[in-house]
Amino acid sequence: MSALAPILAAQIRATGPMTLAEYMQTCLLHPRHGYYTTRDPLGRAGDFITAPEISQMFGELLGLSLAQAWLDQGAPERVIMAEAGPGRGTLMADALRATRKVPGFHAALQICLIEASPALRKVQGETLEREDILWVERVADLPEGPLLLIANEFFDALPIRQFIRAGGGWRERMVGLDAQNDLQMALSPPAPVPALAPRLADTREGDIVETCPQAVTITAEIGSRIARHGGAALIIDYGGWHSLGDTFQALKGHSPVDPLARPGEADLTAHVDFEALARAAPCAHSRLTPQGVFLERLGITARAQALAKGLSGARLAAHVAAHRRLTHPDEMGTLFKVLAVHPDGTPPPPGLSD
Ligand code: SAH
Repeated sequence: MSALAPILAAQIRATGPMTLAEYMQTCLLHPRHGYYTTRDPLGRAGDFITAPEISQMFGELLGLSLAQAWLDQGAPERVIMAEAGPGRGTLMADALRATRKVPGFHAALQICLIEASPALRKVQGETLEREDILWVERVADLPEGPLLLIANEFFDALPIRQFIRAGGGWRERMVGLDAQNDLQMALSPPAPVPALAPRLADTREGDIVETCPQAVTITAEIGSRIARHGGAALIIDYGGWHSLGDTFQALKGHSPVDPLARPGEADLTAHVDFEALARAAPCAHSRLTPQGVFLERLGITARAQALAKGLSGARLAAHVAAHRRLTHPDEMGTLFKVLAVHPDGTPPPPGLSD
C-alpha cells in the first residue's frame, strides 16, 4: 500500500470527503510522500516523457521565439527568463544554448525557476550548473520586471475540481471512503455553484465540467506582470478551448492506472482549459495553436535537417522519430496546444498569431 493511502483515509475520516483538488494537491506535493516531491518521474524509465526530453529542438525553438519577442519589445536591459515546472531543466538548457548569440540577450537575463519539488530542484541545478539561478516557490514570488515565461506540461499538474450537472445545480465529485476504508469516488449533494452559472447554457444533465482555481490565479499573476512590465509567456499543454468531460487521469510507467489506486505513486493530470487561462490574463493572448503548427512555423524542419547531417544509423532514426513525435497530428502535434500571453499592442511571439 502507498504511504499516502492511510494519511488520506485518516483525513477523510476526520473531516469528510475531499475535493479532487485537495486529493491531487496531496498526492503530487505532500511534503514527505508527494509524487513530485520525492522523485524525478520523467523519461523512459519514469512514468511519462515530455517534449524537451524527446528532442533538443523543442527548447531551442521556444527560446528563440521568446528572444525574438524580447527584441520586438525593444530589448529591455533587464528581463526575467522564468520557467514554471521545469522538470529536469532540459528545456531551459536548450533555450539558453540556442539564444547565446542573440546580441545582448544573455547579459539582460535573470533566470528563475518556479519549482515545488526539492527532488527536481536538485536535478535542475545539475543540468544548469553553469547558470546563476533563482528558484522560487510560486509565480507571485518572482522579482518584478519584464517577464519571459515558459510553462510546458505545468498547468496539467495543477489540482482540478470536477462537477456533474444535476438539474439547475451541480454535484461535485469527491474522494471518500468505502466500507473497507479504501478510497472511492463520491458525489456531493446537488447545489448551485455561482462560478459555473455560465456553464448552465452549454451543458446538459449529467455533463462533467472541470475547473482549475490555481491555474486561473497563476495566469492572472503572469498576465498582470506582463501587462505592467512587458514580456511574454508561452503556455504549452494538452487540452482545448472550453472544458467539457472528465479528463482526470493517472499514469504510472507510461500506462493509465486508476487515479485512486496508488496515491502519491502515479502522475495525476487533467487537460488544460485554455479559455479559462486566456480569460484570466489581463492582457492580450494569442490564438490557441496546435504544437505541430507552432513548431513548423518556427522552422523545426530546417533545424531537424541541419541536425540530421551529423547523424546516421539508429541515432538518425531516433532523431527523425522525435521530429515526427513532436509535430505529427497522430502524435503530439495536435493534442498539445500553445497559448501566448503578451502585452496589449504588441505582436505575439513568433509561431503564433492573434
Ligand atoms: N516542464 C517539464 C516538466 C513537466 S512535469 C518538462 O516539460 O519536461 C511538471 C513539473 O511541474 C515538475 O517539475 C513538477 O515538480 C512541477 N510542479 C508541479 N506542480 C507544481 C506547483 N504547484 N508549483 C511549482 N511546480 C510544480
